[in-house]
Amino acid sequence: MHPGSAIGIFGGGQLGRMLAVAARVMGYRTISLGPAVDCPASQVTDFHIAAAYDDLGAAEELAERSDVVTYEFENVDAAAIERIAELKPVFPSPSVLRVCQDREIEKSTMRELGIGVPEFRVVRSVREAVEAVGEIGAPVVMKTTRWGYDGKGQSVVRDDGEAASAFDGLGGTEDAPVIVEGFVDFEMEVSVVCARNLDGEMRTFPVSENVHVEGILDTSIVPARCSDEMKAEAERVAMRIAEGLDVVGLIAVEMFVTRDGEVLVNELAPRPHNSGHYTIEGCETSQFEQLARIMLGMPMGDVGLRSPTVMVNLLGDVWEATDGSPDWAAVLGIERAHLHLYGKSGYRVGRKMGHITITGETAEEALAVAVAAREAAACA
Ligand code: AMP
Repeated sequence: MHPGSAIGIFGGGQLGRMLAVAARVMGYRTISLGPAVDCPASQVTDFHIAAAYDDLGAAEELAERSDVVTYEFENVDAAAIERIAELKPVFPSPSVLRVCQDREIEKSTMRELGIGVPEFRVVRSVREAVEAVGEIGAPVVMKTTRWGYDGKGQSVVRDDGEAASAFDGLGGTEDAPVIVEGFVDFEMEVSVVCARNLDGEMRTFPVSENVHVEGILDTSIVPARCSDEMKAEAERVAMRIAEGLDVVGLIAVEMFVTRDGEVLVNELAPRPHNSGHYTIEGCETSQFEQLARIMLGMPMGDVGLRSPTVMVNLLGDVWEATDGSPDWAAVLGIERAHLHLYGKSGYRVGRKMGHITITGETAEEALAVAVAAREAAACA
């Protein structure tokens, strides 16, 4: 499809915004759908449909106005995405979304593909939860199977006695099962964004080393500071998943690297990923441009790293610390600092409001500058 064609984006958040920017640069049109009139995506798309995610009429309108459609977060009603897929091509397909929406299906699918995951049990009652903690051995992490994100919908259980209250606290029932997962004493968390086109050709973006704080991504460091063998293994795992799920578009794979050098998959996201934001400045082609190219049936771009790159997230905490006025001049006064703000109207502690990317001579140097840049923003 040639420039002028329209990409539909189901979702109004920052991932939709950055996809729209990348598509626009190449001359494509974009249409977003999300509940708010003013949202990160609507500020840059050509047309925005302000409607609830379960509004099937609005989903149909998005399909009608678009040539191809994607979704920018996975906590969406699959029914709406399936309706769109009856009308226009949706990338990745709704079947990929179904796997990634449910931790039980996700983990079982990984097992079927022969991919390592932390030890887990799916439990539907307090009794089963207590038994599972006994079998796996505390500490464990208990997670809702659906609708969790950024560490929400999970709780660390340190002894058997906490299992019952954690199960209840997560809203666990017969119909809302909970995953009990062994706590992984990891050496490092990494992620790989894998791009795959309609012909099955794949390109993996460089492995990102990720640091999470309270379940939310805080920092991404590229190249990851692990061995080349570990990086190659992480890339192999991501490609195996992309192929196994028949992904057309992007799939982000979050993994734990254990102290024994094992790679275990934690979570999948069938879309651009926060840990891939570094690709905007760090790679020849960004994750967003790559998705647009794939959706439009164009050749994929080079995913090579231009230079070591570090991204730090800007959460609402930075606004909170400065009474709503972070010192952006201090950030932009730092050479090679790239500021991204998502245009969100209200800040809240823990809310992703933007990020800063720093390119450097080495990952260590870029990391030190990135941390300093964020501190400078928060010292108003
Ligand atoms: P998730 O929402 O599953 O991606 O979890 C958010 C973060 O919590 C992860 O990136 C890890 O830092 C931590 N976490 C989740 N599951 C585990 C686990 N089984 N063992 C250790 N840490 C975990």
